[in-house]
Amino acid sequence: MIKVIKNGTVITMSSNREKIENIDIVIENDKIIDLVKDYNGEYDELIDATDKIVMPGLINAHTHLGMGYFRATNDNLSLQDWLNKKIWPIEDKMNEDDVYYGTLLSCLEMIKTGTTTSNDMYFFSDRAIDALKETKVRCLFTRCLADINNDGDKRIDEFLDLYNKYKNDELIKFSVAPHAMYTTNLEYLKKCSKLANDLNLPVHMHYLENRKEIEDIKKIYNMTPLEVLKESGLINNKLILAHCTFLDEENLEAFKGKDISIVHNPISNLNLGCGIADIIKYKDYANISLGTDSQGSGNNLNMFYHMSIVDLLQQGLHENSTVLSSYEVLKMATINGAKALGMSDTIGSIEIGKKADIIMLNLNSILTEPHIDIITNLVHNAFNNVDMTMINGEILLKNKKLLLNINEKDLIKIINNRIKKLS
Ligand SMILES: [Zn+2]
Repeated sequence: MIKVIKNGTVITMSSNREKIENIDIVIENDKIIDLVKDYNGEYDELIDATDKIVMPGLINAHTHLGMGYFRATNDNLSLQDWLNKKIWPIEDKMNEDDVYYGTLLSCLEMIKTGTTTSNDMYFFSDRAIDALKETKVRCLFTRCLADINNDGDKRIDEFLDLYNKYKNDELIKFSVAPHAMYTTNLEYLKKCSKLANDLNLPVHMHYLENRKEIEDIKKIYNMTPLEVLKESGLINNKLILAHCTFLDEENLEAFKGKDISIVHNPISNLNLGCGIADIIKYKDYANISLGTDSQGSGNNLNMFYHMSIVDLLQQGLHENSTVLSSYEVLKMATINGAKALGMSDTIGSIEIGKKADIIMLNLNSILTEPHIDIITNLVHNAFNNVDMTMINGEILLKNKKLLLNINEKDLIKIINNRIKKLS
């Protein structure tokens, strides 16, 4: 099956060619096989990209897809109060079908807003995978691990069952994800580190989301968070650390030369009053990617909205408009995300040989014209401009319409009925 995306302006996100105008992308099954002017070979499907922007699908490097129910539930609450009062009491009552529908909602939100891959941790994972497979979203997935009531080993067993069942899946890959240091203990983190090493998987964990967490960790472990990272062995794993709102010089020095990616979640951090991660300071020490967290604290999974905030926040924080370019922000949401997930050989840019995870945007609207500086316009204004989303060579959104066999209105009804019962 050959598809051709014809005559678009392509933002490649590859290291050698930032932008190519009037180029055809030739796709065979799941892969990009050529980037060429005026392709005149055979094809099965032609996508006219004249006057459109074509770019790699966005990579959301920190999500909890099953939390689709909790959209914007964070008003006036600290991280700890939000978890204790709003989230955990409802999660205690959630069943596996609740997680399925929550994940389904999140997947549709991602497809409609141009995200083709997420890095997810949650629970009732079998049903979450059902939703991922139904919507065909690419995911570095996992069953979240914690050791709260001596149930840590049970959770690891559940993770292993899941891993063994889906380890050869095309779109679903795995990480090992201890939830956070404040929901685990040293022995458990050592187990997680070893498990990830044995299976050659990355570790995905919340790290230093707010200041109270730092004090809580010191009480539990009698160590600093960095000492726990070292003592558990985790610092030598391929690490994906979500948040990192407060990284001091000692942490940064310890990260140097390690395989560590930071996932910046600016809106979640702002909503929960956690602070602002100084990613300008961090970027010399670790790979910086971008995440939304769940809709509960991140409001939505629309990465374009989150990209704009990243750019504005850092310029304000540093009182300097030159600290971060729009292109650097776009990298965080694409190729840096791919590096974080260990997938930079296959996704994150439009290059020959890579998987065809591609989005197309129409910027020809009152809100986005004129577009003299396309990259800046994309980062700050393209909240509702994704026309086409393709994952693994398959078109899932065309002319803003979902091509999946899922009734959106019915899904919204189901979600609202379920959250009423749970609340
Ligand atoms: Zn999170």
